[in-house]
Amino acid sequence: MVARQKPQRRNSVSPNSFDVVVAGAGIVGAACARELAEARLRVALIEPEMVGGGATAAGMGHIAVMDDSEAQFSLTRYSQILWRQLAPRLPADAEHLPCGALWVAADDVEMEEVNRKRRYYSERNVPAEILDSRSLSEAEPNLRPGLAGALLLKEDAVVYPPCVARFLTMEAQRLGTELIVGRRVVRFSENGVSLDDGTNLVSHFVVLANGVFAAQLIEGIAVQPRKGHLVITDRYPGFVRHQLIELGYLKSAHATETDSVAFNAQPRSSGQVLIGSSRQYGQNHAAVDERMISMMLQRAFEYMPRLRELSAIRSWTGFRAATPDKLPLIGLCPGSENVYLATGHEGLGITTSLGTAKLIAGHVLGRESAIDPAPYLPDRSYALHA
Ligand SMILES: Cc1cc2nc3c(=O)[nH]c(=O)nc-3n(C[C@H](O)[C@H](O)[C@H](O)COP(=O)(O)OP(=O)(O)OC[C@H]3O[C@@H](n4cnc5c(N)ncnc54)[C@H](O)[C@@H]3O)c2cc1C
Repeated sequence: MVARQKPQRRNSVSPNSFDVVVAGAGIVGAACARELAEARLRVALIEPEMVGGGATAAGMGHIAVMDDSEAQFSLTRYSQILWRQLAPRLPADAEHLPCGALWVAADDVEMEEVNRKRRYYSERNVPAEILDSRSLSEAEPNLRPGLAGALLLKEDAVVYPPCVARFLTMEAQRLGTELIVGRRVVRFSENGVSLDDGTNLVSHFVVLANGVFAAQLIEGIAVQPRKGHLVITDRYPGFVRHQLIELGYLKSAHATETDSVAFNAQPRSSGQVLIGSSRQYGQNHAAVDERMISMMLQRAFEYMPRLRELSAIRSWTGFRAATPDKLPLIGLCPGSENVYLATGHEGLGITTSLGTAKLIAGHVLGRESAIDPAPYLPDRSYALHA
């Protein structure tokens, strides 16, 4: 195996020789390529289909701080801060909307959770405010009356992920990255990668950022597809003002056996309303399942009855790359010294793409990261099945 060494940017290199090859130009791979190119490394970014056309194009684009675990909090909050720094430079088509998020409590029991969350975030310097029932109605007049209240997370935001992926890729190219579209990585080794047309790319490091497709390259990796549905409406500016999520969303996100749905509505800068969301394991076909759409919309109507009056113009599905402990796999691939994984981001990969890129650059360059990289290292007992 090649010893891990800090690569130097080379002035004269063969066209097929790189410091790093990144497989996959979803938002995670694009962010990694940009970060590595920013560090003056010679990067190749390989994408068989369309830049940002995988899970990235299917996602909702909620930039969310989350508190399921300290590790999840660290990565989401760190990433959210990076998004706030990047926001002024994003192009208009990235549709960055600093709308904040409301975690909606249906009853007093859920209000206890709102209180717990507020304490958690306040202790960690995340602005978090409790809205009572009346303030919630004023903030979101189309929610049904009688809801108990909500937690307002003002620094949550919304973006349009495929255009962000394209922007990050273009930034990486501006910094010298070679983008190879229409080719797929079929093999990797300590010396680089082979593409499906037989081309071999030599590189010091490889970053596998191919999302749910990681299992096609790494046998036994514990990343499973978790299907999700979304519906988008025609334009109704102001109908929804914040990213809205029912507190029961967490039950849906944590369900491991059954199909689950939760109310999740997002304002788009176009005036459209994006409605989610569902979660299903064991589904490998991308076809829209009318039963899931109907369950999802029924749940949404319970929270926002007037949604029934809007016209839905499109529905689609996507696959989240899920891991058993709900944390991504970011770091050295078990058994390798220069192949890194950047996958397993489940329903938070848009948010955590920027933090992931910083962690990957930290690993590759041997530099310290702003957050502890340990919880995301793929060297977890389950990461590769025997
Ligand atoms: C319904 C739904 C809603 C979501 N909502 C949110 C949200 O609100 N907020 C949030 O943060 N996240 C959300 N997510 C999650 C988010 O979309 C994903 O975590 C994120 O897009 C993952 O990005 P990625 O770059 O890892 O994967 P992808 O976007 O899937 O990119 C992987 C790329 O690798 C390419 N590839 C595949 N095989 C190879 C190969 N052999 N060689 C080279 N390239 C290859 C693919 O073509 C693809 O373009 C949602 C996901 C879904 C499905």
